[in-house]
Amino acid sequence: MDKPVKIKKTESQSLEITWKNGGTSDIKLQKLRDECPCVHCQGESVILKSYIPIKAPFKPAGFYEIKEIKPVGNYAVQIIWGDNHDTGIYSWDYLQELGYNQEK
Ligand SMILES: [Zn+2]
Repeated sequence: MDKPVKIKKTESQSLEITWKNGGTSDIKLQKLRDECPCVHCQGESVILKSYIPIKAPFKPAGFYEIKEIKPVGNYAVQIIWGDNHDTGIYSWDYLQELGYNQEK
């Protein structure tokens, strides 16, 4: 399985990931948050792809800002957002699903 060797926040509000196998990911923080995999954000959509959770139109301060990234075992990271939302666990597979550029 591919693993990140480096994860960093960029100036352009993205998360840049360098993978062990040479690929990179550049995921916008907005996308990362909108696609938060936790049950609260995604509802039943993990099981039933057609279910669209109702998202509050009001975004609290720090909604799209990363406060902290914590490793979870050796398979995922937990992202703590600026509004203290911390239930999203992003596995390597999921991060690759959100964006992956294979090295040419
Ligand atoms: Zn969430």
